[in-house]
Amino acid sequence: MAGKDYYEVLGVSKDASQAEIKKAYRQLSKKYHPDINKAPGAEEKFKEITEAYEVLSDEQKRANYDQYGSADGPQGFGGGAGGAGGGFGGFGDAGGFGGGGFEDIFNSFFGGAGGGRRRNPNAPQPGRDLQYEMTLKFEEAIFGKKTKIKYNRQAQCHTCHGSGAKPGTSPETCHNCGGSGYVTTETNTPLGRMRSQQVCPVCHGTGKEIKEKCPTCGGSGHEEERHEVEVNVPAGVDDGQQMRLQGQGEAGENGGSYGDLFILFRVTPSKVFQRDGADIYLDKDISFTQAALGDEIKVQTVHGDVKLKIPAGTQTGSVFRLKGKGAPRLRGNGNGDQRVTVKIVTPKNLNKKQKVALKAYAEASGEQVGNGKGNFFDKMKDAFDN
Ligand SMILES: [Zn+2]
Ligand SMILES: [Zn+2]
Repeated sequence: MAGKDYYEVLGVSKDASQAEIKKAYRQLSKKYHPDINKAPGAEEKFKEITEAYEVLSDEQKRANYDQYGSADGPQGFGGGAGGAGGGFGGFGDAGGFGGGGFEDIFNSFFGGAGGGRRRNPNAPQPGRDLQYEMTLKFEEAIFGKKTKIKYNRQAQCHTCHGSGAKPGTSPETCHNCGGSGYVTTETNTPLGRMRSQQVCPVCHGTGKEIKEKCPTCGGSGHEEERHEVEVNVPAGVDDGQQMRLQGQGEAGENGGSYGDLFILFRVTPSKVFQRDGADIYLDKDISFTQAALGDEIKVQTVHGDVKLKIPAGTQTGSVFRLKGKGAPRLRGNGNGDQRVTVKIVTPKNLNKKQKVALKAYAEASGEQVGNGKGNFFDKMKDAFDN
C-alpha cells in the first residue's frame, strides 16, 4: 500500500505512544473485523489497519518507516518500480552508477539479474533473521524473567566453516563465468544485437565451483543445529512487543555475519487485572454501607495486597489511584499506577433484620420507600400501575 500513511490509517499522531497505537488498532480492528463487519470494503480496511499496526507496533520497522517511508528500510527501494525509476533518473548523472556502466542501467531498467545493481556474488551477506514467539504469563511480563529457549537454525557448517569444500580443499573460481556469477549472451535480432545477462548455470551465481564437497553439509556451508539462547525478558514488556537478539539468527554467506533473532512476546491476559501499557486496572466490589460510611479495604495488586481508604460518600464508578503499583516502564523510571474502580453492589436477598434496618434508614432519610405493605418490588409495580 505504497503512499498510504500508516499513522492516518490508525488515526494517531506521528508521535503516538505504543499504548495509543495499540488502543487505536484494537478499536479499529474490532470495528472492521471481517467476522463482524460484512460491509463492502471492510475486509480491505481491516487489512490496511493490520498492516499499519504491524509496522508501527514494531519500533524498528516504525523507525524505518519514519525515515524511509518503508518498513524494510533503505533496501526496500532496491527492487520493483522504485528501483527502475531511481536508475533511470540517475542516467544523466554518471556518478550515480558508481561507474557500473551500461549493464547496470540495463538491469535496473528491465529488472535484469538481481533486480538491480549487479552484486559481487562473493561478497559477505548477512544471514536471515528469525522470529521466536514467546508466551508469557501476565505477571512474568510485568516482572520479567530469565529463561532459555531452543530452536532450529541454519548454522555455519562446523566441518568446513561455511566454505562448502571438503577440509583440505577450497572452492575454486567458476570456470564458466570467471567468478562473476553471471554470463552475458548476445543475440542477433532485426533491431540489432541484444545483450542479456543470466545467472551462471554452473555455479548458480556464487562464482565458485566446489570440486570436492564437504561431507557434512554437501557444499551448502550450512548445517541445521538446535540452538539454545538465554533470554532476559525485561520487566514491563507488553503483548506484541519484540526484542532483538543480535547474531542469534541464521548463518550468513561468504563469511557474512549471523542474522538476528526477534523474540515476539505474547502476554496471556489476567483473570483479575487489565493492563494498558504500564498502568493496571482493577474493578473492586464494595458494599453500599462501605461506600456510605467509608472503610479501609484490601486491594489486590501485582505487587501484593495493599490497603485502600474508601472515603465516606464514595459513589459507584469512582476511581482510586495506587501510585507505582503498575508495571515497570520499559524506557523510563519507576512503575505505572494501578487504578481501582469501585463498584457498589446492591444487596440481594435481604434478611428480615436487614430489611428493618434499611426501612429505618429510609424513614430517617424522609423517603417513602417500603413503609407500607409488601417489598420494594411491589411498591415499584404499584408506582407503574398508577
Ligand atoms: Zn561443510
Ligand atoms: Zn559461474
